[in-house]
This record gives sequence, structure tokens and C-alpha cells, in this order.
Amino acid sequence: MHLKAILNHVTDYKSFVFGKVRWLEVENGTPALEVQILPRLNGVRICSGCGQGRPGYDTLPETRRFQFVPLWGIMVYFVYQMRRVQCLDCGIKVEQVPWAEGKSSLTTETKWFLARWARPMSWKEVSGLFRIGWDQVYEAVKYAVSWGLKHRDLENIEAIGVDEVQWHKGHHYQTVVYQLDRNQKRLLWVGPERTAKTLLRFFRFLGRQRTARLQFIGSDMWQGYIKVIRKKARHAVHILDRFHVMQRIGKAINDVRAPLCQCP
Ligand SMILES: [Zn+2]
Repeated sequence: MHLKAILNHVTDYKSFVFGKVRWLEVENGTPALEVQILPRLNGVRICSGCGQGRPGYDTLPETRRFQFVPLWGIMVYFVYQMRRVQCLDCGIKVEQVPWAEGKSSLTTETKWFLARWARPMSWKEVSGLFRIGWDQVYEAVKYAVSWGLKHRDLENIEAIGVDEVQWHKGHHYQTVVYQLDRNQKRLLWVGPERTAKTLLRFFRFLGRQRTARLQFIGSDMWQGYIKVIRKKARHAVHILDRFHVMQRIGKAINDVRAPLCQCP
């Protein structure tokens, strides 16, 4: 079976076809394949602003590279020259392609792939195993979480744990919030840095009514968190015990393998 036939089997990019495939050697000696994507002549161009089919405007000069799911230990990249559309509603806009969103260099398939591995493994392990940046694993998990949030019920959350993860060497943090109810343990929310503002954003996202239902909140002694929890959820019991919060989060991730999302 030809590689293009395999790719056609696992993807469904209407209006596009796979073109030339070539071998690359990436920096650390890992073999890699580069697969060209070409637009079909009679295909529809979609405006990234409104999602509607629009007439073409031009083709951008640079080629963009997207990381696809690795195959047999071989890295796989798509290369494509983005086009622009002339949209009555949005003006001149870059087209929307079915394999990626916005400026991301990861395909949507790759995000799901990484996010699934990030359930049983730490983000750092996923990053090492697939020779990918920690920030890309973060991007993938965040994508899966926000997809899950859009499609899931957030009612009746009674216990949450707030924690931070450190990334790159140095003081770069992400704030993560888990649901820690007896019958439901899952990653709920991820936000940049570990500031009071970050956690405020979580409470804004959760909303006043759902926050009112919280009974237990676990976090460490970080002042920023304490201040916000006091302000937003004074009624809930605040457990200042990072060890036990971490134990429960660890249990949530490793034993229960709490689903991040219901993947499509
Ligand atoms: Zn538009």
C-alpha cells in the first residue's frame, strides 16, 4: 500500500490531495517524511473568519509545515502553501484548512494523539518520547481540554484541586485545575502562569452558580491562589495541603485515568 493511500485512509481532507513525499533527516538524526499537500483545482476555499466557502484571492509565498502523527518512529510533516480568500464579510483572510487551526504547527490529529498519551504519562515524558516541545504537549492538552469543555457538562462539581506545573527550566508555570469528586476525576482547566489573575480567570470560566456549588478546594500555600479562593469561594472548605491534593490528582491521572475529553 502506498503512503498516500494510508494517509487518505486516516484523514478526510476534502478539497485537498497529497502530493510528493520525501525523506528528511531532522537535526537529531530522527528520520522524517515530508508530505506535500495540494489544493484540488475545483475544491472550495474556506474563509478562516466565518467558515464559509469564498472566492480565492492569492497564494502566500511561504510554505507552512505542520506536524502529523508519527508513523513507525518516523516523524511526519505536511507542507502546504496557504492561500487567501476574498470574503464579503471578513475582507481578505487566510483560508481555513481541515488539518490545523490558527497558527498552530500541529495538526488536529497530532493534538489528539499527544493529548491521549498525556493521560497515562507526564507531559514531560510525552515531550521526550515524541521529540516534541513541552509547550506543544501543553498546546495539545489545552486543545483537548477546551474541546471537552465545549462538549461536556460542568454541573455538580463539588471538589477541585488547584496545582501548578513548572515547565522549561526556570520559573515558568501553568496553573491546572482538576475536578476531584469521588465519582469524577478529570482535568478541568489549564491557564498560563500561577498568578492570582490566572485563577480568577478559572472562576470566571466556571461562573458564579457553579462556584457556589463547590464544597472543597485544595491548593498549596501560594498566596495568589489563597487570596482568590478566599475572594471567590469563601463558602468552600479550603484544604491547604499540597501533598494530599497531589496524591488525589495523581490518583485522578494514574489510577482512574480520568478522561480529559471524550475524543471525537
Ligand atoms: Zn469570512
